[in-house]
Parts: sequence; structure tokens; C-alpha cells
Amino acid sequence: MTQDLVLLARAADYAARQHIAQRRKGEAGEPYVNHLTEVTALLAEATDGADVVLLMGGLLHDTLEDTDATYEDLVQRFGSEVAALVAEVTDDKSLRKEERKRLQIEKTASKSRRAKLLKLADKTSNLRSLVRSPPSGWTEERLRDYVVWAEAVVRSCRGLNAPLEAVFDTAYREARLRFGA
Ligand code: ZN
Repeated sequence: MTQDLVLLARAADYAARQHIAQRRKGEAGEPYVNHLTEVTALLAEATDGADVVLLMGGLLHDTLEDTDATYEDLVQRFGSEVAALVAEVTDDKSLRKEERKRLQIEKTASKSRRAKLLKLADKTSNLRSLVRSPPSGWTEERLRDYVVWAEAVVRSCRGLNAPLEAVFDTAYREARLRFGA
């Protein structure tokens, strides 16, 4: 347990450093790390903090996609289970955006339980951000498309954790009301 807390603190510190210059896309330009801590808090609450690998995954989930961290870095610092989980939720950036979005819908069903819970929390945080502070350049149509897409990705993550699903559904309902999706 004590060792778990050390690892978790180390993951938070590493994630904050890796994403130090990044901001959320929304008009408010929230520091990116707020997204990571929100996702992790959602996961911790929904699982009573029972799975430190999952929580570390929450903190680190965007390091491979959006920073210069490598898979090997994550293995060395946090172990292969955490690195594998982060890799599971990382899009292939060599593909075009539309293709990546399509693959998220298609491939999420075959992912691990942890990866699915992470996706649920990630999309919950993203929908909340969209409602709280929509990106300035996004048209109504783009906002609506995102909401519909997020729900489609999450469809195959259902049936694993009722409390987490409920917070997603609340965020989804609010986003639909706001953007008429
Ligand atoms: Zn994310």
C-alpha cells in the first residue's frame, strides 16, 4: 500500500512534467494536467482506489500520445503492466484523425477491463470539458459529432462498473442537451 502511494505520486509528478506546456483545447485553456487528475479521480472513486495500476494509467494515459515519453520510459519507471495499459489506450498517430476515431469505436471492445474503464473516465472528462469550455474554433456540428462519437466508443465499455457508467451518462446527457446531439 505504501509503495503504491509512492508509485502513484511519482506518476502524478511525471505526468505533470511531461505535459507541462500543454493546455486543454477549450476556451478556458485549462492546464492539461487537470484532465489527467480528473480522469484519475473518477477512476479512484468508481473503484474505491483498489487498483493502483489503473490509477497510474489514468495519470499517464496521454504520455505516449501527446509527449515525448516512450514505452520503454514507462516500463522502466512504472513497470510493464502500467506501460501496457497506456499503450492500449494510445492512438496510432501515423493514421489520419478520422481513421483513428473510427478505430477507437472498432477496437475498444477487444481491450482489457482496465483500458475500458480508462476510456469511460477519459470520455467523461472530455465531455465535461466540452460543456464547460468548448474549443473556440469548433462549429456546433463538430461539437455534436464529438458527443455522438464519444458515446459510440464507450458503448463497448459498459457493464463493467455501474458508478463510472453513471457519471459518464450524466456528462453525456448534459452534453447532448447543450449541443442538441
Ligand atoms: Zn485523455
